[in-house]
Amino acid sequence: MTDRLMERPCRTCKLDSIEAKLLAEFPELRPVEPWKFGHLYQCSRCGRRWFLHEHQRRISRIHDDLLTLAIHWNQHLLSVDEKTLNTLANIGGVADYYRDQIAIPCTVNDVSGNIHEKAIVLVSRQPPYFWYKPQMVHWADAISSVAASPFALPLEVRKATAEKRDESMGFAPVGIVEKQGNEYTLVSVSRLFDWHRIRGEEIRLSGRQKKWRKRVMAEPAEAFYFIDWFDQCQELLASHPKT
Ligand SMILES: [Zn+2]
Repeated sequence: MTDRLMERPCRTCKLDSIEAKLLAEFPELRPVEPWKFGHLYQCSRCGRRWFLHEHQRRISRIHDDLLTLAIHWNQHLLSVDEKTLNTLANIGGVADYYRDQIAIPCTVNDVSGNIHEKAIVLVSRQPPYFWYKPQMVHWADAISSVAASPFALPLEVRKATAEKRDESMGFAPVGIVEKQGNEYTLVSVSRLFDWHRIRGEEIRLSGRQKKWRKRVMAEPAEAFYFIDWFDQCQELLASHPKT
């Protein structure tokens, strides 16, 4: 692979993602090598790398600042022990629309002794290729143990926000209520909540369908931990009989 990333992105590589069925219209994107859960492509014009997901719905450009991390992701097996998996299963995860990732908000005790109470474990079949700040991306082997986080929203609330987003792809309100009875409206896919000292564990669905109360944006995570997608991970982590 040539490394010409100092070049400006070509017209194609100003795009973030292309539907895989349109790939033939972009002959400058050339296959390079198989990757974990997909295939690596490279642009012959400007050298940028793209990741074709194995289910072949989309091909996505790997952003320059995440390329080193994406390569690391591909080259390493990312798994955790059974005890950690069982704890994650008890917390419960929500799969995203494309079933490329299952997200589980939790507290992570990392191998350096740091505690991240606003962490998200991602069981993923895609590399970190866009959106993430590089310093927020960590790997399975950095996890010492996981536990429930006081900031994590209950599974039913997280699931509701994901389902609303999938329905609307725009404003996707979900009404919630805290234990004092104050109501809020989550307006995007939410996994964590930390708003005026109210924490995720205190939140429930309000059942409200109209007249939205105070809108609250999703609380950002402070760290993401990538684990590889594995057989039965959806059954273990993202089926919902536990609620
Ligand atoms: Zn290009």
